[in-house]
Amino acid sequence: RKAAAQAATSKEDLRSPICCIMGHVDTGKTKLLDKIRQTSVQEGEAGGITQQIGATFFPKQAILEKTAVVNKDGSYEIKIPGLLIIDTPGHESFRNMRSRGSSLCNIAILVVDITHGLEPQTIESLNLLRDRKTPFIVALNKIDRCYGWEPVPNGGFRESLAKQSKSTKSEFDDRVRKTILAFAEQGLNAKLFDENDDLRRNLSLVPTSAITGEGIPDMLMLLVKLTQERMSGNLMFMGELEATVLEVKVIEGLGTTIDVILSNGRLSEGDKIVLCGQDGQPVSAYVRHPEVKAALGVKISAPGLERALGGCRLYVAHDDDEVEVYKDMALEDLSDLSRFINPK
Ligand code: GDP
Repeated sequence: RKAAAQAATSKEDLRSPICCIMGHVDTGKTKLLDKIRQTSVQEGEAGGITQQIGATFFPKQAILEKTAVVNKDGSYEIKIPGLLIIDTPGHESFRNMRSRGSSLCNIAILVVDITHGLEPQTIESLNLLRDRKTPFIVALNKIDRCYGWEPVPNGGFRESLAKQSKSTKSEFDDRVRKTILAFAEQGLNAKLFDENDDLRRNLSLVPTSAITGEGIPDMLMLLVKLTQERMSGNLMFMGELEATVLEVKVIEGLGTTIDVILSNGRLSEGDKIVLCGQDGQPVSAYVRHPEVKAALGVKISAPGLERALGGCRLYVAHDDDEVEVYKDMALEDLSDLSRFINPK
């Protein structure tokens, strides 16, 4: 087992980072995700995008395809094997995880509506990201709402902007200026992404449209750069198991299932998982699925899972002693969680 654990941290074993999408309601989070999922590679094909429970996995091939217009000669090398985007920021267990400051997300996209600027939930998300020191970028969405905008479907941002009339450009510039000022009021030095020469110090704004797809290639490219340049070494590589229960659901024919985000490590057939139950008792079950590797979303079905609690971590035990240790850890998670659910 030790040998297996060492092999798991090998430097060749790159891990796909996890990205969260946050922001005020109606800024276009759902639409942006829909747009980046559209691809010529079909789901199920090698290199295709797969929509998983509460998350979408973009393999390297799909990222290459979607960033081609802004990385024409392939001069920027994409090293990550893929990107997992968590797309259910609304639900309860995610809120628990957010307040617990979980390490679930490695990077984030904060979506701002360019016609509205910073809104209350934008500031709330911003503060959460800052507290957790999660690197993030801003998608300055709905640029097509600038008066007279001439769309260049799925175009790179600069190419699109160059096509706009003088008055449309000036409205755009004005809105960007206002947004930069609003971020400055929050103590952040924001710059347009291609004018930002220091990803560590300045926040990058990527103008996008979830309707026309403009700026989305730039946004994906920037996410890759942010991960490759800002995620510390260890985070980039496969390490110990880290998994969180996103949701507990009853599915006809399957019984109670749990949707799990595997953010690090692997889950293999025969592994005994341990997690906390709603009643304060630990729940355990066996994995009956060929090996899966982080990062991805998996659905697990097993008897006993009806007591599982969303937002909890999931552990894998290899023998009875470990089962006992992890049961205690699972219960500690529960007391942590209940503090946030019923803060007193
Ligand atoms: P969410 O609440 O952040 O997930 O926002 P949605 O994705 O549901 O979008 C809210 C509304 O804004 C919908 O009517 C979308 O069609 C619209 N919308 C989203 N993105 C854009 C955009 O880039 N341009 C325009 N014109 N409308 C957008």
